Amino acid sequence: MNKNILWFKEIHKDDIPAVGGKGANLGEMANSNFPIPGGFVVTAYAYIKNCEQLGILEKIQKMESSINVEDSEELNKKSKEIRDLILKTDMIQELKTEISKAYEKMGTKTYVAVRSSATAEDLPGASFAGQQETFLNIFETKNLLEHVRKCWASLFTSRAIYYRKRQGFDIEKVAIAVVVQKMANSEISGIVFTANPISNNLDELVVEAGYGLGEAIVSGSITPDTYLYNKKTKKIVEKTIATQTWKYTKNTLGNKKEIVLPKDQKLQKLSDDKILELSKICVNIENHYDKPMDIEWALEKNELYIVQARPITTLKTEKAEEFETEANKKILLTGLGASPGFASGTVKIIKGLSELQKINKGDIMVTKMTTPDMVPAMKRASGIITDEGGITCHAAIVSRELGIPAIVGTEKATKILKDEEVVTVDASHGHVYAGTVLHKESPEITTKHVERSDFLTVTKVKVNVAFPESAERASKYNIDGVGLLRAEHMITTSGIHPFHMVKQGKQDKLKDLVKEGIKKVAQNFKNKPVYYRTFDARTDEFINLKGGDKEPKEDNPMLGWHGIRRDLDQAEVLKAQFKAIKELYDEGFHNLGIMIPFTINVEEYKKAKELAKEVGLIPHKHCFFGVMIETPAAALIIDEYINEKLDFISFGTNDLTQLVLGIDRNNEKIQTQFSEKHLAVLKLIAYVIKKCKARGVRTSVCGQSASDPEMVKYLIKFGIDSLSVNIDAIDKIKETVELEEKKLILDAIRSRNIDKKYEID
Ligand code: PEP
Ligand code: MG
Repeated sequence: MNKNILWFKEIHKDDIPAVGGKGANLGEMANSNFPIPGGFVVTAYAYIKNCEQLGILEKIQKMESSINVEDSEELNKKSKEIRDLILKTDMIQELKTEISKAYEKMGTKTYVAVRSSATAEDLPGASFAGQQETFLNIFETKNLLEHVRKCWASLFTSRAIYYRKRQGFDIEKVAIAVVVQKMANSEISGIVFTANPISNNLDELVVEAGYGLGEAIVSGSITPDTYLYNKKTKKIVEKTIATQTWKYTKNTLGNKKEIVLPKDQKLQKLSDDKILELSKICVNIENHYDKPMDIEWALEKNELYIVQARPITTLKTEKAEEFETEANKKILLTGLGASPGFASGTVKIIKGLSELQKINKGDIMVTKMTTPDMVPAMKRASGIITDEGGITCHAAIVSRELGIPAIVGTEKATKILKDEEVVTVDASHGHVYAGTVLHKESPEITTKHVERSDFLTVTKVKVNVAFPESAERASKYNIDGVGLLRAEHMITTSGIHPFHMVKQGKQDKLKDLVKEGIKKVAQNFKNKPVYYRTFDARTDEFINLKGGDKEPKEDNPMLGWHGIRRDLDQAEVLKAQFKAIKELYDEGFHNLGIMIPFTINVEEYKKAKELAKEVGLIPHKHCFFGVMIETPAAALIIDEYINEKLDFISFGTNDLTQLVLGIDRNNEKIQTQFSEKHLAVLKLIAYVIKKCKARGVRTSVCGQSASDPEMVKYLIKFGIDSLSVNIDAIDKIKETVELEEKKLILDAIRSRNIDKKYEID
């Protein structure tokens, strides 16, 4: 096809050599009458013709073939020379005229996305996807022409050249097409999953919707409305409306954050009619591709547009597995499987926060260690790999809650893995494979824990929550409440360090943030207890929040200024949290408990209670107060705490194990020795449970060990009252508890003497 320009309607799915993978897909969608924003493709033929006529084609090919790609200095230098050559050489007039005319047809003030569409992209066995540039919000002819050339140049970035060499690609076949597509200026936008990615139900379609441009939802920065549509009954079966306080809009400088009018913040974003219309379009797209799809959509001037559509690769169904490509089972790296699951994607190495925007939906995030500020980007990733950390580090805790497969403590992921390389994370076994590996579920994963959820246990099984927005998902399980509500992530959304907020006199803002977070969780767990743990952030964890640079530099933050010792030094922070809970009690939320973290002496507990009294939280008939047992000190003097009226204790076994064994929980080098089942840790736990039982104090475990079935067997024998586990472990732990409880009853029966009358002596 020797045309320079092809409109979407002129393109079909087999036209990849002319228009690249992206272009062919858009053509296919336009011809199937899906409402995609209009546009055209500057073909690969146009690129070749341009370079040939300007006499640079052969030159470029020669330059690329002469590069020794293993010499990164040479690679970077030559790659830049080729790109400069393209950028400095003007475009042939014929092409300039044709592109300008095509753009005029769209309207010369139209905002367009200019995307590279490499002809080798997305082909089986050659995952170049995402390696070339995309430019958004381009307008005016001059800019458009310049960005088409920028796309061409991006065919020669160091990493693109490196991968072509690694794949043994024929240099003469290297070409690039450029997609020019109108950008939807959406009033409302979002994502549709044509199968429910949480329940894996193929009959359910999930619509997410928010005000403004889609970037806010895709990046995980706002919580969207969620609507569930049943494909069989063709009805909306559930609607969850989120409060949205800000949105992105577009202006000539790019995306702009704007306040949503207060009257609109709590409204349903997309009308029922539009939900039905959108669902119908998306079901048609799924049928067209014969796969469950992940679809980005936009509503502009009451018209729906489909912006992107790709297969859902994380769905745990045989159907979803069909479209993973060939297996290449080379293990590149091993580490600790911290959040179970299986995911394939493109590696993005993150060296600093400024690089987080590199992470697109479905990528594999590779970094030294995650921090709370990385959470929005973590939500976009399909898998996470870190150099550092153990099973209770930040990356592990967050990934488990978000349900993202994660491997931590690999020691060298950021050195061994290469940016843009495709890998598969098998986090159930701690293996990273090269390429996309077909996921055949291993027998231990398919042991049908999920088929039953009606376990009957006397020991309560609760769930750990760090993100208020996960509360809804967690509440769908047969669960007895929230045994640990971590406070730290509630305040990161503000971007300001909590202690800094208070220094600026913004106690009320802090109180409101905490209140809003707790309320969201409590509403999802009506009539079930929710145990809120007061702030326990280490000084190195929030340094990237505003004011975080003022945090002291500690040699060992794990043993430093955190938990109740810090909250008492900066009592306004503690008071703001207590006030939030007091207000919630007054509003009728009577299911809240308070846990004090990292205590070492009873004075701390007493002082915390005095502050609670000051804000009117105590006495309160609904207020239950307790401490976390996270230090050997607190465990050994448990009697003193009980003397001070303690409603409950909860073991923070992550810290307790660290301190009993003297093993830094974040140090990957010694993780194999980190074990809650060490006799010394077990003895301390058994001691505290015995003391508490004797004096009517309820006991619980909320550290990671409560999610380990082997540890749970000990805890049940010791007589623990409740366990608080990660969402992914609920069914597995309930099953273990049910079995262990039955065993204990049987053991007790079996050890009794048989009634004399049945004995033969
Ligand atoms: C613990 O230490 O076990 C605990 C639950 O707290 P964190 O992991 O937040 O320190
Ligand atoms: Mg702790």
